[in-house]
Amino acid sequence: MKDWYDLIVVGGGPAGMMAAGRAGARGKKVILLEKKDQLGKKLLICASGRCNVTNTASLEIFIEEYGKGGSFLRAALQRFDNEKLCSFLLSYGIETVVENKGRVFPKSQRADSVLMALKTYMHGHEVQIQTNSEVLELKVESNRVSGVETNHGNIFGKNIVIATGGCSYPATGSTGDGYRLASSVGHTIYPTYPAIIAFETEETWVKPLQGTPLKNVNITAYQSGKKIAEQFGEALFTHYGVSGPAILDMSKRIVECLHQGYVQIRIDLKPKHTPEELESILLDQIKRHGSKAMKSCLTFFIPEKLTPIFVNLCNIEPQKKASQITTPERKRIVKLLKGLSLTSVRHRPIEEAIVTAGGISLDEVDAKTMQSKLWKGLYFAGEVLDIDGPTGGFNLQAAFSTGYLTGDSVD
Ligand SMILES: Cc1cc2nc3c(=O)[nH]c(=O)nc-3n(C[C@H](O)[C@H](O)[C@H](O)COP(=O)(O)OP(=O)(O)OC[C@H]3O[C@@H](n4cnc5c(N)ncnc54)[C@H](O)[C@@H]3O)c2cc1C
Repeated sequence: MKDWYDLIVVGGGPAGMMAAGRAGARGKKVILLEKKDQLGKKLLICASGRCNVTNTASLEIFIEEYGKGGSFLRAALQRFDNEKLCSFLLSYGIETVVENKGRVFPKSQRADSVLMALKTYMHGHEVQIQTNSEVLELKVESNRVSGVETNHGNIFGKNIVIATGGCSYPATGSTGDGYRLASSVGHTIYPTYPAIIAFETEETWVKPLQGTPLKNVNITAYQSGKKIAEQFGEALFTHYGVSGPAILDMSKRIVECLHQGYVQIRIDLKPKHTPEELESILLDQIKRHGSKAMKSCLTFFIPEKLTPIFVNLCNIEPQKKASQITTPERKRIVKLLKGLSLTSVRHRPIEEAIVTAGGISLDEVDAKTMQSKLWKGLYFAGEVLDIDGPTGGFNLQAAFSTGYLTGDSVD
């Protein structure tokens, strides 16, 4: 039959491209359908176009980082792990470099080099690629899939992989179609929510601080006085609230708690010093710069832009000289340096999330093959599954691993 395929891949992101290439390499007749006019639109914006492809962490750390989805991913990671991904990229001439916290990037620092490797992989194994092709429905017969309906007509095949991604950054094509397709054939979809996301705060004083980073701080999130998450690293003020790598890394837990009410975020601006040590350093600064305004003295501890707001939060007259600072005022400064407080009222919309939590229930997918337990020939790969990881290359590795395992499994 002319238009009949061993595998129909729905979605041209990293998971779909890897599944298509691997199945093609095994001699399968493969077609990849992508609804946008080009492949890998989200891949191209990964890490601001630098593309943090994976992490150097061990298998056990990988599994831990995905939380409840971790054990499901074991087989996929064992089949195609971070080292195999780097060897794959190298076989297409892409050297990788390791940065802070084991983050792996192409040496060129260009996401388009990764996309080029995936395209070459697929072309090399005669994968047929059709862009501007949106899959609208799945076709099933008795207990197995038989094809898809697209905006250009029907395509028939023995196996289908849904690799349509999550529902963040919809302009890249990830608009949650896979959830609708899977649910139409009886799959359970867990409610989606943003997993790596910034927060809006009650405090409006953040607005003029937009773009100001707070480096090497310790951030603790509380709800009703109970600690819910903690991270060390960098926070960033935005016009609406707070973001930055450390906030993003603890955001999933905060989002989950926000259903029950506001979350308090406390930032220890000087985590390496005890309050007593800080007070003594502060006294020393006051001694040296007594004739200067107190806020100028504070630049020793915090970014200059934050100083007028900080002085105000400490209830100190803006122009008060350092030498005129009273003991209670000094104590208030130290207290605030050890715990700048923000109230997170809501997360930013899911469209702005780096990754979508929730999705296709893992209970209905065979972790050893990525095949549906409900329909023969139906597979799932990538972010459409109920799996998400933190920043650091974990989400792309999950997409590549599940895509590879799918391509390796289809009969
Ligand atoms: C700004 C940003 C930066 C990121 N940076 C990183 C990073 O540096 N490292 C990292 O590990 N992760 C990063 N991520 C997350 C990572 O990009 C995703 O987890 C990953 O792209 C998921 O791959 P996927 O193939 O499952 O889905 P996607 O990349 O979302 O691809 C899905 C594809 O399916 C297509 N599609 C959807 N519906 C249909 C349909 N009905 N018919 C046909 N085609 C369809 C879409 O157009 C899309 O091309 C980042 C995400 C964002 C938003």
